[in-house]
Amino acid sequence: MKYDFPVTLTKNPKQKPESKGLRFGTVMTDHMFIMDYTDEKGWHNGRIEPYAPISLDPAAVVFHYGQEMFEGLKAYETAEGRVQLFRPDMNAKRTNNTNDRLCIPPMDEELFVEAVKAIVRVDKDWIPKGEGTALYIRPFIIATEPFLGVRRATEYKFMIILSPVGPYFVNGLAPTKMYVEDEYVRAVKGGTGEAKCGGNYAASLKAQEIAHEKGYEQILWLDGIHRKYIEEIGAANAFFVIGDEVVTSELNGSILPGITRNSIIALCKHKGYKVSERKISIDELEEAYRAGQLKEMFASGTAAIVSPVGELLYKGEKMVINNNEIGPIAQEMYDTIYGIQTGKIEDFMGWTVPVE
Ligand SMILES: *Cc1c(COP(=O)(O)O)cnc(C)c1O
Repeated sequence: MKYDFPVTLTKNPKQKPESKGLRFGTVMTDHMFIMDYTDEKGWHNGRIEPYAPISLDPAAVVFHYGQEMFEGLKAYETAEGRVQLFRPDMNAKRTNNTNDRLCIPPMDEELFVEAVKAIVRVDKDWIPKGEGTALYIRPFIIATEPFLGVRRATEYKFMIILSPVGPYFVNGLAPTKMYVEDEYVRAVKGGTGEAKCGGNYAASLKAQEIAHEKGYEQILWLDGIHRKYIEEIGAANAFFVIGDEVVTSELNGSILPGITRNSIIALCKHKGYKVSERKISIDELEEAYRAGQLKEMFASGTAAIVSPVGELLYKGEKMVINNNEIGPIAQEMYDTIYGIQTGKIEDFMGWTVPVE
């Protein structure tokens, strides 16, 4: 094996939660992966340790200038007891794209995938069994060098933590209500919108709070210049079914290139649907709605896979989509992707990677 990470097992294993009623992101497993970086040694000392708080210098760059990135993927156990990941190579590639944007040193993509496999192997008994559950994997990198001043740090930690999760939304596949944000913006071209970094989320909280106060669960972001073209949703990409066309916004530099988004486009093509990555404006959406052509809307992301949208509010106008019910394409995409991930459907796209 090219990578061999020493393992220190916990002396105090925690009680595993019941699969039933599992929420998202509240419980962490017994172990974590840590690897260090210095300019002298590069990435080194990858290891697995008992899950525990870490100690950092208060001057660590991440606390002051936000040099941080993260990823998200899931591990599943099939009925035959095989543990598998979904397209982890895509997360490894995206890590390096994000790192490049944030001046974090690049990482060997094979190392990334091997580290994920190693920690999942140690905590595989934490993979929950219930319908809609999985083991969520959160790799992240923080700048740890103690230094006050703005420049790229010379020291980092790469860590992976795991969390057994249930459905991302408490109501599972029930449609959510979405607020079209026309004041605040998430990202602009030239910014960090296509990088997966914590800073993007910190900057989105204000708008999310306002939407929550108005009774909306999520935000549909518009472009930062015209407040006109649809970008994406809180932590997910946006899909629309207009007539017989499945549409998602083209990757324009300010949209996060979701792996679920990529998978849905590939599946739609495979099934012979008309699928477009293109500019789509909120006006086009309203027109389609009024003409009865806006058949479905759904969000796509690792956490929920697919989450139907039942209502949109834009400038006080309410649009109720597909009777506030999940549409056929959203349902088919969810069933197919979750089926492949859990081994219930044969992996005809070659997307799963076993954790030997
Ligand atoms: C992670 C993320 C997505 C979804 O990406 P997946 O790879 O499908 O999980 C979409 N938008 C934002 C802003 C994200 O952070």
